[in-house]
Amino acid sequence: MELDVLTIGEILVEMMAKRIDQDFLHPGEFLGPYPSGAPAIFIDQIVRLGLKGGIIGCIGEDDFGEMVYRRLINDGVDGRLIKRTKEYITGIAFVTYFSNGERKFIFHLPYSAGSQIFPEDITEDLVKSIKCLHIMGCSLAISKNVKDTIIKAIDLAYSFGKIISFDPNIRVELGLSPEYLNTLQYILSKTSIVMSGEKEILTITDSQNMEDAINRLRDFGVKIIVIKKGKKGAEAYYEGKYYRVDPYPVEEVDPTGAGDCFDAGFIASILQGYDINMALKLANIIGALSVTKKGPMEGVVDREVLKTYM
Ligand code: ATP
Ligand code: MG
Repeated sequence: MELDVLTIGEILVEMMAKRIDQDFLHPGEFLGPYPSGAPAIFIDQIVRLGLKGGIIGCIGEDDFGEMVYRRLINDGVDGRLIKRTKEYITGIAFVTYFSNGERKFIFHLPYSAGSQIFPEDITEDLVKSIKCLHIMGCSLAISKNVKDTIIKAIDLAYSFGKIISFDPNIRVELGLSPEYLNTLQYILSKTSIVMSGEKEILTITDSQNMEDAINRLRDFGVKIIVIKKGKKGAEAYYEGKYYRVDPYPVEEVDPTGAGDCFDAGFIASILQGYDINMALKLANIIGALSVTKKGPMEGVVDREVLKTYM
């Protein structure tokens, strides 16, 4: 199996509150199921850009699993690494948006099919055959066995000199213990590309300001640091240089998934040989376009569509 990009983690469905400021404490209407899961969104966008991508994940033998599986396969994701289990149902996320811009999530994940990923699912041959391993921090919090699986993949990828990219993608709802921070920092020590939000980067490096955070990441050995700034665009630091890109003007309909699509745009560009400036520009457009559709995976774009925006 030859893959440009391999990722590991949750493949799930998302139910979205219909109304802004609709809380989870009162009955309300929800839209969905939409295909979701940060690594799933990421890999879907990777293949839509023309690269070969696979995801190690697990779904239940239910229609939620079938729906998201069909979507990934139709879009071109290599399905051979997606497992199915009878014992658990497919992972589910509920999300609601508030007028102050905040989101609230309820995840049915640790006791879902999504948690059924084990170190045995990673083989040396598999990791040898890839160009890049991309990890999302949120997946580490699913369960201990998922975390162990990810660490095994990282250790192997590192020993084979593969590109390792990491998006801490911290969701407070999934917990952030000192042990979790330790794991994040272990991963940073093996990572060459970090793509993160502004607040997350301070948290994971235990820094007070951006300058300290960048220096700490460099000390960990990170080569390319990308900061995602939502409506304000994005920045990058590479070989002592600073890069930034203004936001691409769009009307935001649903912000979920922007970071995952952005990550895919950046990694795909780097693997296709573009420089940092161009990778940042392309990722920025892809991130912006992804927020124009309702549903976390609905805003992914094809390579051909992207060309028309350049
Ligand atoms: P999430 O984890 O919720 O998917 P994130 O916090 O990782 O998102 P964001 O910073 O929200 O990532 O979005 C990623 C990138 O997408 C931004 O850096 C920017 O380039 C683009 N983007 C996101 N929202 C907008 C917007 N409203 N207008 C223009 N560009 C946007
Ligand atoms: Mg994110």
